[in-house]
Amino acid sequence: MKCKKCKEKAVFSSPNLCKKHFIDYFENKVKTCIKKYELIPAKGKICVATSGGKDSLVTLYLLNKFYPLRAEALLIDEGIQGYRPGSIDDMGVFCNQYGIKSKIISFKNETGKALDTILKKKRKMKACAICGTLRRYLLNKYSKSYSVIATGHNLDDESQVIIMNHLRNNIEQLSRLGPKTGSKSREGFVQRVKPLYFMAEKEIMAFSLLKGIKTNFSECPYAVEAYRSDVRDLLNELEIKQPGTKQSIIDNFLKMLPTLQKEFSKGSPKSCEVCGEPTSGTVCNACLMAELI
Ligand code: SF4
Repeated sequence: MKCKKCKEKAVFSSPNLCKKHFIDYFENKVKTCIKKYELIPAKGKICVATSGGKDSLVTLYLLNKFYPLRAEALLIDEGIQGYRPGSIDDMGVFCNQYGIKSKIISFKNETGKALDTILKKKRKMKACAICGTLRRYLLNKYSKSYSVIATGHNLDDESQVIIMNHLRNNIEQLSRLGPKTGSKSREGFVQRVKPLYFMAEKEIMAFSLLKGIKTNFSECPYAVEAYRSDVRDLLNELEIKQPGTKQSIIDNFLKMLPTLQKEFSKGSPKSCEVCGEPTSGTVCNACLMAELI
């Protein structure tokens, strides 16, 4: 198989490209997304929510390359044995190699308990519900001095979450998705951006391998329990039978997004009565969760 640009040996198929042209294609597509959706402000530090996995390290690599000395890594350590320590090491190696500042915030220090410990006592609670709520809260709390939080969400992640919200009849939640989420005018809320929004997972994996970004590609042990893994398998099957399915989900969703945002943007922003962080109710989900665990 030859590269469609130069006839060198292709290292990636669909599009068929050699190493040099695949890297150019990947970086240009991310730059176009950043520009089109105005993801990165002209000034200020960029907080990259880093898990140590391929998606967040590729995001960190590119933002550090495009905006030198502005990107910093923030890792939330949930306390998942056999998974998180390895990815903390991967992030440390990467940040040392590129001279990027990093910070680690742990559930244990913040709530007094690691996720594994919480789940041993609260067997009926879902790992991802606890983890997602606390992680979002801590990311926002510890990124107040940054202009944006960049995450490694990709085309696969986003098409999964769109379908999950449709299947759960959660239309309001759909209005909070997209390449750029949240409002910078909302006090206490740091805007979130997704530079890899249009990049497929297999493209990110190829890019990280070609760039020699070391990551062990392991998956959280709790991921198998998540509804998301069923939706992921379903979409992967559909994508094989009908290539372009995930891209179509994203494209259709982006056409609907302005209408959804208009419909659900009503209501004035509030601050949590307990911690002062932004919330749509009177007490934020993280404080409600803290009561339960
Ligand atoms: Fe947290 Fe669930 Fe993701 Fe594991 S799979 S890191 S528990 S949200």
